[in-house]
Amino acid sequence: MPLKESEAFVLRSHPIGEADRLVTFLTRGAGKVRGVAKGARRSRRRFGSNLELLSRVRLSYFEREGTDLARIEGAELLESFFTLQEDPERGAVLACFAEVADAFAREQQEDEAFFRLLHAVLRAVREGLALDPAARYFEIWTLKLHGVLPSLATCGRCGAALPARGAGYDRREGAALCGRCGRGAGAGDLPLPGAALAAAQAILSQPPAALIQAVPTAAGLAPLAALAATLFFDLTERRFKSYDVLRAVRGRE
Ligand SMILES: [Zn+2]
Repeated sequence: MPLKESEAFVLRSHPIGEADRLVTFLTRGAGKVRGVAKGARRSRRRFGSNLELLSRVRLSYFEREGTDLARIEGAELLESFFTLQEDPERGAVLACFAEVADAFAREQQEDEAFFRLLHAVLRAVREGLALDPAARYFEIWTLKLHGVLPSLATCGRCGAALPARGAGYDRREGAALCGRCGRGAGAGDLPLPGAALAAAQAILSQPPAALIQAVPTAAGLAPLAALAATLFFDLTERRFKSYDVLRAVRGRE
């Protein structure tokens, strides 16, 4: 099988056996790729610290017959986001990005827009984008790029524009509904006040770095956090541990 090469982010890396690492990558050209980096634990010569969380590397690997585990040949460091993670809260938010990316990335098929999303959000954080808008940006666009974000501009039932005063997310219907269509507060339904709809439009209409200057309000971002958490759970049927870690880190401060 031919050697493959792609730019990639390290999403996960954990030790296997005495000497090796099992590493999950989000590649630019081939979506999610998992593989074994032989000797990555024993000798740091070959991989160095290039397998740190969210390192951007030039990955070279062989696909292997009969398994979806690739053999990692090399991972040359292109850009590190390691020092960004020295701050515990920022590190916890970046770990959330990695876990969400691992859950949503298409396996071994092109997912380049998702790769570019992760890169743009990481760079915006480095340039000063606050953590809450960064996290909401990454979550909303993760859902959008994978075709599972309900419309936050028009009612999911009647198609009318959602009113500026706000709407509600109907969990059973999986849609944001206008006041006329919404049944009112059902179990698990979420309010989407006007500020949240405005924050969503700000997120969906510009690059993440634009939110460094024009920061959406906390009142707009908080309902989007609840919406993303609900959708993540309903779509993946699991809780992301990294969000529990983030809550614990914030509780300590
Ligand atoms: Zn409606």
